[in-house]
Amino acid sequence: MEFDSINHISSRSEFVNEDINDHSSVNSEQPSRIFYPKTHEECQQLVIWANQTNASLFTRGAGTGTTGGAICTKGDQIGISLVHMNNILDLDQINATITVEPGVILSRIHQAVEAVGLFYPPDPASLNRCTIGGNVAENAGGPRALKYGVTKDYVIGLKGVWANGESFEYGGKLKKNVAGYDLIGLLTGSEGTLAVITEITLKLRPKPTVIAEAIAGYKSTEDALIALTNTLTRGVLPSTAEFMVERCMSASLAYSNEAPVMASFPAYVIWQVDGQTVEDVNKQLNQIKSFSKGATFLMMDTDDLSNRVWGLRRNVSLGLKQVAKKKYSEDIVVPIGNVPEVIKRLETLNHPSGIEVLGYGHLGDGNIHVNILKMSASEDDWERFSPDVIEQVMAIALKYGGSISGEHGIGVTKKQFMPLMFSNHDLHIMKQIKTIVDPLGILNPGKLHP
Ligand SMILES: Cc1cc2nc3c(=O)[nH]c(=O)nc-3n(C[C@H](O)[C@H](O)[C@H](O)COP(=O)(O)OP(=O)(O)OC[C@H]3O[C@@H](n4cnc5c(N)ncnc54)[C@H](O)[C@@H]3O)c2cc1C
Repeated sequence: MEFDSINHISSRSEFVNEDINDHSSVNSEQPSRIFYPKTHEECQQLVIWANQTNASLFTRGAGTGTTGGAICTKGDQIGISLVHMNNILDLDQINATITVEPGVILSRIHQAVEAVGLFYPPDPASLNRCTIGGNVAENAGGPRALKYGVTKDYVIGLKGVWANGESFEYGGKLKKNVAGYDLIGLLTGSEGTLAVITEITLKLRPKPTVIAEAIAGYKSTEDALIALTNTLTRGVLPSTAEFMVERCMSASLAYSNEAPVMASFPAYVIWQVDGQTVEDVNKQLNQIKSFSKGATFLMMDTDDLSNRVWGLRRNVSLGLKQVAKKKYSEDIVVPIGNVPEVIKRLETLNHPSGIEVLGYGHLGDGNIHVNILKMSASEDDWERFSPDVIEQVMAIALKYGGSISGEHGIGVTKKQFMPLMFSNHDLHIMKQIKTIVDPLGILNPGKLHP
């Protein structure tokens, strides 16, 4: 492949000190070349070159995605890694906005805005590694989505390059904007299939003045879920309500090489409430306690304890992978009222071959991370039965009014389930949109569309 017109852009023939894969179960091919553009113009040159030469491109942030969106699906593809476009361009305290390049790591945005009393709530558990470009492309959520919403609720400006090489710049520091179709909304969550995003403006909130957190141990999964639904339906809106069962905790403790933070319980919820006064947050916590019959609360009232508990929550997925040897991670979402029933139904999916199914996660907003764990199943049984178990998980989500993905997107691993959720007409509309902006099908081919 000739790279003459783009030779000036920093590139490598293979990934160095970076994982070529993402966090899905799919193995990446080795791409022909990986480019590391530093400007919007370089991104545009790459996309124009791909259109002229009919080359396929895949875009990549930090590679923490869990559905194969950032991997190379065929050996002749060219990677565009956005990690060197990592500048914070503007932090506007008057308009409460921040404008950044796509390769900025999310936790850097948190630190920058909180240093001036502002707040960017989306907090995927990968926040110390994932990029904001990846967050926008996946419309990432996190524990605080319960009270504050997901990435799309904060994206008010986008700059980038459509797949056909056209540059765009939409929105800006506007808090309201309803002119025409919502193209920012279309691009947010489009998983790198429509455009390369090169600049993002996010709206910010005032940082909550008082935050209180506790981890509560419950005598049963049912007790934890009753506390959760009662809290959410009786006027308290915590900023997080993260649920996990004992096996998640023990797997994470082992993975993190940490001592337990409290006695062992069948189920836990990490509660966080925020407000303007101490009285206000104490009132909220007391209400949660009144709905948590027989539970033991440990206040996370030091930075050390808070970091340890959140660290354990963030390592659950990696811990389960260590225990199970192999696993698939699904992230279904259902209406909150159906969470207890869905958790019960998921427990019935444990397979005689030894495959186990475990649900945990952002249960406060109905987003259940369903882990299908290989455990004692043989390799043959894993290959043979796990696809069926996954399909049953999807069927349960849809039966209970849910969706096949709450925050991880579709990528490669879930595209075969799209027809379960969308009609042929719906899928045709999506395909047409893709064809209009990417007539040659050069950007992230083989992803999202079944
Ligand atoms: C331990 C762990 C915990 C996680 N927890 C959460 C969680 O709580 N909530 C959640 O939502 N997700 C979570 N994730 C998933 C993942 O972190 C998010 O999807 C994140 O948004 C991906 O960001 P990234 O920079 O790693 O993107 P990548 O994985 O590199 O890419 C993801 C997708 O975005 C596209 N893309 C990346 N940058 C651009 C760009 N500039 N322009 C266009 N397309 C682009 C890629 O093509 C790909 O399709 C977790 C992952 C891990 C490993």
